[in-house]
Amino acid sequence: MISCGIDIGGTFVKILATSEEGKVLRNQKIKTPYHLSSSKFLDFLADIINNFKKELKTKNIVIGVGVAGDTDNKKGILRFAPNIPWPNLRIAEGLTKRTNCNCFVSNDANMAAFGVYKKELKEKYKNILVFTLGTGIGGGIIIEGKLYQGSTGTAGEFGHIKIGDAKTGNLCGCGARGCLESFIGTNTLKKLTVQEVKKNPKSILAQLVKEEGFSVKLLSDAASKKDKFALSLWDYFGTYLGYAVTDLILIFNPEVVVFSGGVAGGAKYFMPALLKILKTQKIKEPFRNIKLLVSKTKDVGALGAALYALSVNNEK
Ligand SMILES: [Zn+2]
Repeated sequence: MISCGIDIGGTFVKILATSEEGKVLRNQKIKTPYHLSSSKFLDFLADIINNFKKELKTKNIVIGVGVAGDTDNKKGILRFAPNIPWPNLRIAEGLTKRTNCNCFVSNDANMAAFGVYKKELKEKYKNILVFTLGTGIGGGIIIEGKLYQGSTGTAGEFGHIKIGDAKTGNLCGCGARGCLESFIGTNTLKKLTVQEVKKNPKSILAQLVKEEGFSVKLLSDAASKKDKFALSLWDYFGTYLGYAVTDLILIFNPEVVVFSGGVAGGAKYFMPALLKILKTQKIKEPFRNIKLLVSKTKDVGALGAALYALSVNNEK
């Protein structure tokens, strides 16, 4: 059996085909085609899957899809997504009709969590929280070796737990105020950086922004050159992420917390502030031996989706 894993994000769609053991056989990355209608978008995905079938000379393919939004994992529907233009997209039904293959759908961070659990941690730990750090902040929960998706498939929306005041806090892309994502999502980091560059046009940070434009990597580069603002921005990032991590550790009492996604590359700079928050907790035990890891697996969301599809398909 071959599995096709698809990760639909606000910027890119990643599609790969794997063996049952998770060996990657085919891999594609395409800019999210915003201009397509929902039906044409499904045609586009189905064409790629049908091509994989031909190239790999198999009819026996199962499909797993992780999508950046609120999903109904039982019916395979994308219900709501702030960064993707196809609300109420019936992904599983649409792809099965076009490819004749079983298709399973979940939230992209859930799929990343499944990929981290299976491929990266090799099932060594059974209680795991995974944060995906990027434009959006996502989360996935593994409890006793099983992906926990909740009653409606919404479990793990770490980015929208309220870290600030829900009435007056920062406005989030989801429409609410005070969400974690509105504090540490990439758009906010960019906004804070632009404000700072206007204030201090001669700083190291301003110089770097002028040369290469804003990126999260640039914030790490500026921090490595001891730019004061970049260091303080990572400190702020680690502090607010730390508030969310401590709350979730108190709720789930995991063995491991894993950070994945582009911004996790800044761990060297945000981890000290995060650890400080963890160390000041009064209930000590759940924090004593907690492991904080940064995911190193490439395309862990698409890979996780492929492994998830195999796992759910085997249960059926
Ligand atoms: Zn929100």
